[in-house]
Amino acid sequence: MKSPEIVLGHGSGGKLTKDLVDQVFLDSFANPFLSTLTDSALLDFDDQRIALTTDSYVVRPIFFNGGDLGKLAVCGTVNDLSVMGAKPLFITCGFIIEEGYEIESLKRIVKSMKNAAEEAGVAIVAGDTKVVEKGSGDGVFLNTSGVGVVSSGVDLRRERVRPGDSILINGTVGDHGMAVLMSRERFGFEAPIDSDCASLNTLISGILSSGADIKFMRDATRGGVATILNELVSGMEFGVLVDEEKVPVMEEVRALCEILGMDPLYVANEGKVVVVCRSADKENVLKAMKEHPLGRRAEVVGEIVKEPASLVTARTRIGSRRILDLLADDQLPRIC
Ligand code: MG
Repeated sequence: MKSPEIVLGHGSGGKLTKDLVDQVFLDSFANPFLSTLTDSALLDFDDQRIALTTDSYVVRPIFFNGGDLGKLAVCGTVNDLSVMGAKPLFITCGFIIEEGYEIESLKRIVKSMKNAAEEAGVAIVAGDTKVVEKGSGDGVFLNTSGVGVVSSGVDLRRERVRPGDSILINGTVGDHGMAVLMSRERFGFEAPIDSDCASLNTLISGILSSGADIKFMRDATRGGVATILNELVSGMEFGVLVDEEKVPVMEEVRALCEILGMDPLYVANEGKVVVVCRSADKENVLKAMKEHPLGRRAEVVGEIVKEPASLVTARTRIGSRRILDLLADDQLPRIC
């Protein structure tokens, strides 16, 4: 690795995160469960398949338009289980709290977790609390782990993806990143953007029970849609062609991205899932998405292509092509 120290970009989910995972973590921890680098590990016990995941949340500010740290942690964990085809069941939570943090604010975070857990049908079954000295943290950091059970017959592996398969998303991209940014910075103007932070488990179970042949799912969080599509094609003998005109983006999000020189395809979401299915099933999946409140603006946004392999390409609005590479650095640190 080039840098001898950790930089914020190591937490971006992009190129630097990949280097850190490959060269530090996998170097020591590699095993068949971890090395798939999926949203959850899949573990077989007798005839049950369990999904297990963990995530830490350091969003700044803790309360933002459309959500807060607590809701984010529960929904994020539920979604990482759901995209592996698991039914989320149990969650644990670890709080790292900075000395001086107001108990009233902590209660708001906890209440929000309770509501999000109830809504998703998961139980918070274990927890831990640590306090660090004033100045050693930034209010509250959260870690959540989650366990779910995978139904038999679900086979979501990118190895099953083939050229010609369709790519869908359940709605507008970039809402979460831009909502957090609007809550963080003072721009001298207001834009009514709410985070899309939501648990996707019922939407995803609808998609899985639609009868469609679903081959791959991932929630497009940190690094946005472009980053997870890069993870999909990395080292594979196929590529992705995204039809940019088809990708739903809220007008306010598009305008803010233009002002800031950002690309909505790289901005974080917390309630969006990218689905790859057999082309013949795309209308089926689209219907299942649109029938759910979190899928009203769903679209087919692209396809799996043979060439160029291992690359994500976009057909732009003016008809040209551009490559959507992994970003080295972070457009927006501490977004989740
Ligand atoms: Mg994920």
